[in-house]
Amino acid sequence: MTALPPGSTIGILGGGQLGRMLAMAAAQLGYRCHIYAPPGDNVAFEVAAGSTVAEYDDLAALKSFAEKCDVVTFEFENVPVEPLRSIAHAVPIHPPIQALEVAQDRVEEKEYVRKLGGETAAFAVARSEIEVDDAVAAVGTPAILKTIRMGYDGKGQVRVSAQSDLASAWRRAGGQPLIAEAMVQFDAEFSVILVRSADGEIRYWDSPRNAHENGILATSTLPAGPLIESQQAAARQMAAAVADALEYVGVFTAEFFASGEGPLFNEIAPRVHNSGHWTIEGAETSQFENHIRAICGLPLGSTATVAERVEMQNLIGKDGERWLQLLGDPAANLHLYGKAEARDGRKIGHVTRLYR
Ligand code: AMP
Repeated sequence: MTALPPGSTIGILGGGQLGRMLAMAAAQLGYRCHIYAPPGDNVAFEVAAGSTVAEYDDLAALKSFAEKCDVVTFEFENVPVEPLRSIAHAVPIHPPIQALEVAQDRVEEKEYVRKLGGETAAFAVARSEIEVDDAVAAVGTPAILKTIRMGYDGKGQVRVSAQSDLASAWRRAGGQPLIAEAMVQFDAEFSVILVRSADGEIRYWDSPRNAHENGILATSTLPAGPLIESQQAAARQMAAAVADALEYVGVFTAEFFASGEGPLFNEIAPRVHNSGHWTIEGAETSQFENHIRAICGLPLGSTATVAERVEMQNLIGKDGERWLQLLGDPAANLHLYGKAEARDGRKIGHVTRLYR
């Protein structure tokens, strides 16, 4: 892959904070970004040279977007793949569309990982309400029901016990095809964040320990502790097998549960990830910069951690009101995403603290 010269235009599908931080990293390397997103609070627009407001299935808008870009990437994993295929002949797209396809479907994702030797929680599929009883019986209780498509940050998820009314659980989960997963008794959660270049070189950041609250990431911390450290190598191997099989280019994230039995794969994100935000200050090269480097055919940067201890904390909803106080903390690196509204459960920023 020949290196894209500075001054080239990177198209980013999705206008949220991930696109914003990607565009900031791209600007540092002299690239222009053009963001494509449907109407909404598109906080990436504010830091990009160009933007298009259109639905993801607007073929005419996608065509004109592709004509303006030298490479296209995405920050949102639910971009519909069929419309995207219509521009694949016109502009290189990294990561590959197949990575989106696999990540968009929880069943396909788990089967893909299992085929490559990865371990997942036991799961069963309920395509309609009458299949829910059998699916839950197959995995046992407690279980967790998740929509097969379009779920994120704990949305479209319902926990069920032996006493639960499954008809109501089906409705609460959105009344659409579900996957029933056995509830994993994990000791900790962690992620493998890697970057893969077009010629297959892979670099890994240290795996952080991730703590979730209400299905949303609350903190990512390093060092991750002995249990995660002992499972990092096996998890990396599993993540790399998936990235290699997909001929992936860019930053790729895989989330894992750490339990006594070894790392259990939870899900993949074919993009930069919230659990990698700490890399902006905490690593020699951030996930955002390395994603841009990979998709533009540049040499990858070092992923080494630069501090003894790192903690990234998400600012969710009203947490953002603490911005002035956080700025008074010399260890705190504050990132605010410029969101118009601080609704409950909405990620409005994050703060990373380094301890040397
Ligand atoms: P997900 O959207 O699949 O990443 O789920 C969000 C969070 O819910 C995870 O990070 C876990 O904390 C929890 N969770 C998801 N699936 C399971 C499971 N099978 N067993 C236990 N906890 C889970």
